[in-house]
Amino acid sequence: MQHGVENTHLEKIIYEEAITGKTVTYGLFHRQIRQTAYNLRQAISLRPGDVVSISASSCIDYILTAHAVWWAGGVVSAINNSLHVDEIVHALDLIKPRYFIVDSTLYGKIPAITKASHHARSQNEMAIFTIGSEASTNWPPLPIVNLPSKEKGLELHNPIRANTFDARKTCAAILLSSGTTGASKAVMLSHHNLVAACFQLRSDNPQNWRGSQREIFFPPLSHVYALYVCFTMNLWLGSYVCLMPRFDLELYCRLMQDRSATLARIVPAVARMLGESPVVGKYQYPKLEYFSCSAAPLHEETAAKLRKAFPRAALCQTYGCTELSGPCVQSGVRDKEMPLSASGTVIANCEIRFVDLDGKDVGARGPGEILCRAPNAMMGYKDNPEETAKTISEHGWLHTGDLGYLDEQGYLYIYDRLKEMIKYKGFQVAPSELENIIIQHPSVHEAAVVGIWSSKEDTEIPRAFVSLKPDHGRRTADIQEEIATFVSTKVSNYKRLRGGVVIIDALPRNPTGKLLKKKLKEYDVKAQHAG
Ligand code: AMP
Repeated sequence: MQHGVENTHLEKIIYEEAITGKTVTYGLFHRQIRQTAYNLRQAISLRPGDVVSISASSCIDYILTAHAVWWAGGVVSAINNSLHVDEIVHALDLIKPRYFIVDSTLYGKIPAITKASHHARSQNEMAIFTIGSEASTNWPPLPIVNLPSKEKGLELHNPIRANTFDARKTCAAILLSSGTTGASKAVMLSHHNLVAACFQLRSDNPQNWRGSQREIFFPPLSHVYALYVCFTMNLWLGSYVCLMPRFDLELYCRLMQDRSATLARIVPAVARMLGESPVVGKYQYPKLEYFSCSAAPLHEETAAKLRKAFPRAALCQTYGCTELSGPCVQSGVRDKEMPLSASGTVIANCEIRFVDLDGKDVGARGPGEILCRAPNAMMGYKDNPEETAKTISEHGWLHTGDLGYLDEQGYLYIYDRLKEMIKYKGFQVAPSELENIIIQHPSVHEAAVVGIWSSKEDTEIPRAFVSLKPDHGRRTADIQEEIATFVSTKVSNYKRLRGGVVIIDALPRNPTGKLLKKKLKEYDVKAQHAG
């Protein structure tokens, strides 16, 4: 992901931190990246191919670190800093970074992480460095260059010559995704994947992707959304991004007004708030051209409310997944006729086809599972050839695990998900991860977790179905509460069992013993209680 600089962009502010007000210009950022890359090579001996995991809240130094790692020839792995200790341990053991870069949000968790992580203990090679304004007495700061813009001498060092590596075979980024089944896997995205995604997104929709765009960005930098918006597209186009470390509706609306936002990149849960909350009316959004909603299904009713609250702004959508470096389908401001339940048209250079449950083609427009073949499709899952082979066919078709169809205008509709993954407000929740925790409870015989729709929160939420051991001898209500609490102490907030714990006699299975999760999704809890 090495990039050139347009002279016209040099004095433009490209990033601002919403809370601290810190800013950086395009020209300065570019020089800081190169100098920091040099420091990473010289001062901490980063070698080409070294994996650097970053777990921190959204800030300019996070993005600077990522680009410097790329310039120094390394691989960036972004890990959500709100994860529970056990989840970070799992991530580190999977990704095996040589460096772990953290900010103060992780300081309290590090001793437990380094104690529990097999990688951190056995390799004894995982060096920890810090970024951000709060220094630590335990771990040294990463040698980041943060010189004021007038400072001279930043052009001295250029550690890496561009194009000295095979962009298709060289991993640039590693992100976590549960894919079509099972627990989190480490998705490897090449430099070619990331650059391709930028071109694919822009070539169909140059009006949406312009250097003059201004946005307030709240999703975590560990999500693929950030990878293609904040790390790549924005830097390529020279557009302005204000980074919010967490979502706060009032601050978001105020910043949209004060920073003259031209677009709002949102997820369905935020679309709902913007469509309903009276806070929205306190501010003006004269420059707002469009919303771009992605990461989870947007319900028509929510879309309609958003349109009513913002009649002058277009509503665009994107659909994609981490395994596709982000995008598969998008709609642009010109797609005024697109039905609200559609997600957009397939991006440039991305082939799609549809198959049934047996993998047989079901025609060019579906309905069926969506398969993609595209330059933005991942290299594979790290150290996991079995799952990679299950996800990408020998002819290069990637199974998305989503069910959809195309209409005659070429708009794609997603109508269900074949894969087990649950999406809570755009965040992935892997049922198997929760099931593995629940069965550790002493009263539990079997457990299955499914996503159910919460119209109150306008998102899917995880619900556990549990059968108990015969001799548990306890009140059902006590066990339900215990299980929910047991899970909350072991996972991050967004994975909690918000859909509750339902005790049933036995999990439904077909004659061959296969668990019928569809039946659980349809299980009417109220009717069962009434009965
Ligand atoms: P992630 O890898 O976290 O981006 O999650 C990707 C998954 O989120 C997809 O495979 C879909 O199941 C879901 N998803 C993303 N965007 C949309 C959308 N616009 N409509 C419906 N589902 C979506």
